[in-house]
Amino acid sequence: MCYSIPGKVVKIDGKMITVEYFGEIRKAKNEFYDLMPGQYVYAQGGFVVSTVEVKEAQELLQNWKEVFLKLKEKDLRLAREPKTLYQIANATRQKHQDNSCCVHGIIEFSNYCACDCMYCGIRKNNREIKRYRMTIDEIVKQADTAVNKLGFKALVLQSGEDPWYTEKKLLELVKKIREKCGVLIVLSIGDRPVPVYKNLYEAGAKSALIRFETANEIIYGKMKEGKKLKDRIDLINKLKEIGYLVISGFLIGLPGQTEYDLMEDIRLTGDINPEMFSFGPFIPHKGTPLAKERIPALDEVLTVIARARILYPESKIVVTTALETLDKKGGARKGLMSGANSLMINLTPEKYRDHYEIYPGRKGMEQTVEDRIAEVLKLLESIGRAPTDIGLA
Ligand code: SAH
Repeated sequence: MCYSIPGKVVKIDGKMITVEYFGEIRKAKNEFYDLMPGQYVYAQGGFVVSTVEVKEAQELLQNWKEVFLKLKEKDLRLAREPKTLYQIANATRQKHQDNSCCVHGIIEFSNYCACDCMYCGIRKNNREIKRYRMTIDEIVKQADTAVNKLGFKALVLQSGEDPWYTEKKLLELVKKIREKCGVLIVLSIGDRPVPVYKNLYEAGAKSALIRFETANEIIYGKMKEGKKLKDRIDLINKLKEIGYLVISGFLIGLPGQTEYDLMEDIRLTGDINPEMFSFGPFIPHKGTPLAKERIPALDEVLTVIARARILYPESKIVVTTALETLDKKGGARKGLMSGANSLMINLTPEKYRDHYEIYPGRKGMEQTVEDRIAEVLKLLESIGRAPTDIGLA
């Protein structure tokens, strides 16, 4: 985001390029630009989102250099002599992924949903919440502010499964954002036909956030009536085939889920091999049939993150807003110190933000975007994380 370091292109191999950040080498996919070695780019999540003039990049790097080395040193110091599971996961992250950390923005553009997922507060049958949808121009305007004023380099566009956004409207949205913004567009719009996803990819959306929710097909069937786990996994695999950088994972603490299930969830995430892992606690919502279920403890979530990091050392793991909701003051820090290396900032306009209530009490509702950004920067600085791109594995 506002906090990001440009990298120097050192090698080009078709769509795959090698980028250097203060001597560290990362891979990134380039689909938009005609690049030459020696040029500078911003990459996000392993994807080139914009180019930077040489002079501007060199000035930025000059300013970053000292800070960057200090951050690295701090991160290394905090990862020394690991003893607990969380510390071992953190040291594993440090060894394999260094101190790179990306911060994605998320715009929740509609809370209308045609589905009735048992766990979800915006399910069709919850009549208690106020529904909203942003117009295409409103979303584009918000994206423009996020990218061109606040400096975000990756934006998740999330909604319920809302057929009001036809393929035509979504294509218009993606194209308009791409025209105005050098950003990685991450779609989080649920089940849509593969050809629609293909066209959206061609239009410029290069990443998709789509969880399989649980690897237990019986629980899946109970949570999403009439839907099959296999179809969701097929869709995720097809998105990967199209070229999407996929972010995927599951919910922790669903009714009936055992510790064994959670290990299977981690295994399935590893099998899918997404660009980024996303695991969040299930937090019951009063407008759903699961209102009275238990909230998982913070430690259960941190344990999943730590185990995933140790089993898949090269992975990128995001701290979800739901985890931050379990511990509003310390959740993000604890997640990042237990193996995670990415964060999300909610950029949904304030007038709508409260209504995207997939679960209650979401972290960040009470803060302005500016305050939230300042909080995140302070946190990353305090634990020595730097905004170089994490790159592709
Ligand atoms: N319609 C899109 C986006 C859904 S909302 C899709 O189907 O992919 C994004 C994520 O929020 C879901 O994938 C789910 O894992 C999570 N979520 C929904 N209800 C939740 C709850 N009560 N607690 C925590 N996370 C929840």
